[in-house]
Amino acid sequence: MTAIRVSLITTIFLALGACVYASAPAPKPAPEPITYDPQQDMGLLWVKHAAEYKAITMQAYRSAAAALPRFIADTTWSAMPGQTDAENLPPAVILDVDETVVSNVDFQLAFERPFTNRKLYDFYRKHAAIPVAGVVEFVAAARKAGVAVYFVTNRPCELIDDDPDPCPQKLGVIDEIESIGISTDAAHVMLADENDWDRAKIRRREYVARTHRVIMLFGDDLGDFVPCVRTKLYGPCTTPATKASRAQLVEEYADYWGNGWYILPGPMHGSWTSFR
Ligand SMILES: [Mg+2]
Repeated sequence: MTAIRVSLITTIFLALGACVYASAPAPKPAPEPITYDPQQDMGLLWVKHAAEYKAITMQAYRSAAAALPRFIADTTWSAMPGQTDAENLPPAVILDVDETVVSNVDFQLAFERPFTNRKLYDFYRKHAAIPVAGVVEFVAAARKAGVAVYFVTNRPCELIDDDPDPCPQKLGVIDEIESIGISTDAAHVMLADENDWDRAKIRRREYVARTHRVIMLFGDDLGDFVPCVRTKLYGPCTTPATKASRAQLVEEYADYWGNGWYILPGPMHGSWTSFR
């Protein structure tokens, strides 16, 4: 009887010990270093290889070209919410640059992470720019119809080595645009760090709207159309954007999509990547 009791108590202690051992936190293994392989990124691969990508951008630009006569003739029309009394101003369109005029896909596939603006700048010193399909034809059609063409990019101005130019990126962007067959100049290319502008782009759109009736906007990022799409507060924004607020903006301005606003695919980078 005593032997049975001792055996039972021993079993209970062993079981309790096993429970205590099982509930003790296991030592955590060292985290694996995060490696990113652009050759596995479906967004990059789609832009690089999918025939559908070209079909979509051509679709956007050809739809816009077909709408040029209507928006030119209707002098009450503006693609800038809030622009009024512009009947007597000459028409203009505003295009973003990266993934709207030139495709950065080869850079995205090749550059060593993390991203820096200097890496992008250096890449284009050595590599030819790739036009987004349809843009060259659209710009030619717009200019033929008497429409001014402005380019608004968030490439920043940064000093490069011992170059005295405070913004060599501006000439770099102009060179890239011209290399794909679109002539332009410093007055029609606007970077974020010029004047009192910022990355929200709205001030640069408003700057164009002072002298032109803005009939169309083009971009791959929600910020190419409306402000307050980022967590950082730029321009008129007082609260950080959220995934829900961004979705709400798309709904709020639903009448513009395909009707003055033409958005192109941007699966490789952009403000959306902060809201996953
Ligand atoms: Mg872009």
